[in-house]
Amino acid sequence: MVNLTEGIEQEKAFRSHAQGYWSRNGGVAPELWNDWKWQLKNRVTKLEQLEEHLSLSEEERAGVLLSGDKLALAITPHFFNLIPRENPDDPIRRQMIPRIEETWSSPYDMADPCGEDSHMPVPGLVHRYPDRVLFLVTDRCAAYCRYCTRSRVVSGVGEQELHTDFEEAFRYLEQHTEVRDVLLSGGDALLFNDGKLENLLSRLRAISHIEFLRIGTRVPIFLPQRITPELCAMLAKYHPLWMSVHVNHPRELTIEVKEALERLANAGIPLGNQSVLLAGVNDDLETMKTLVHKLLMCRVRPYYLYQCDLINGSSHLRTSVAKGIEIIEGLRGHTTGYAVPQYVIDAPGGGGKVPINPGYILYHDNEKIVIRNYEGKIFEYPETGNENVQFAPQREYHDEYLYS
Ligand code: SF4
Repeated sequence: MVNLTEGIEQEKAFRSHAQGYWSRNGGVAPELWNDWKWQLKNRVTKLEQLEEHLSLSEEERAGVLLSGDKLALAITPHFFNLIPRENPDDPIRRQMIPRIEETWSSPYDMADPCGEDSHMPVPGLVHRYPDRVLFLVTDRCAAYCRYCTRSRVVSGVGEQELHTDFEEAFRYLEQHTEVRDVLLSGGDALLFNDGKLENLLSRLRAISHIEFLRIGTRVPIFLPQRITPELCAMLAKYHPLWMSVHVNHPRELTIEVKEALERLANAGIPLGNQSVLLAGVNDDLETMKTLVHKLLMCRVRPYYLYQCDLINGSSHLRTSVAKGIEIIEGLRGHTTGYAVPQYVIDAPGGGGKVPINPGYILYHDNEKIVIRNYEGKIFEYPETGNENVQFAPQREYHDEYLYS
């Protein structure tokens, strides 16, 4: 039995879990284990495979049987080794193993909580913000997260199919000179082989007004074997290229993942992390603090902490917004500023990301601003008296919303 202090110490450490459940009967040859294609071919995708390794709870068994037409089950051997045999409440297990609660719906659940489909001028290209687009280049991931905001299309078993029209998308981007930033996501673009990914990046780089490329990916976490020196050398040809990875719990940062992230950083790719705040996974300050500190040690800047989207069947994984604010309050000022992510809600229906912060401004007019610091001490700072500044009429909006 691991006590709480030992548990936290274990989470702080970078550990290898290879080959874990696969080490029986002499294990797997290292060259296979370290081959990303072997990892993909040997993913855990079926109830029988789960039961071979884990003692499933009734809720999990029913979840696996009933959620198959919502989002596929797939977990790479590397990531599966993070899941303990016995504990259904384990934070990694809660993210990856379906539960019966996925088949329940709450009044706020939606199929497309970020309103992406209504902002898609070309199949697969989401143009919601003025100067940047989201390019959904595939519907496949190395493994599937049960809270995925795109579960309507991701994994290929949900209610919609993704039919990205690449040529039409390139044409749209060539014509829309206001687009300076393209985010490749899906699905996960790093599942493409090097040649296919390079073709995509070079087509985008040939469009002169596109200044900035980004890849949103969970591959370095699910499948660190994919981050080969060859891939890194190819990516380095397309700078400025940034990457957003997705880590929710400190145990996901294994030795292999740390090394993969270091290879990307050494290729000059700035790395940010996007976490989703999830009940029973990372909704406490100590876990989040350990996570953000480990990320900095992997040369990854914690970037966003998302309030979980209102995706169908995710209510058991959602926390209160108050919990998210409490976590940010516990980080800001108490640790390195680089370690504090911006907490955001992706406004339901397509309103975009809205920053959510603890209230540090107590009063503000054109003479002064009254603020509090992380210790709760109150300070005044004089305003410049610049009469051209417009103060946001927050109070009026608030009243209008409440009483209309
Ligand atoms: S890796 Fe991202 S896109 Fe894929 S299932 Fe997880 S959250 Fe969804």
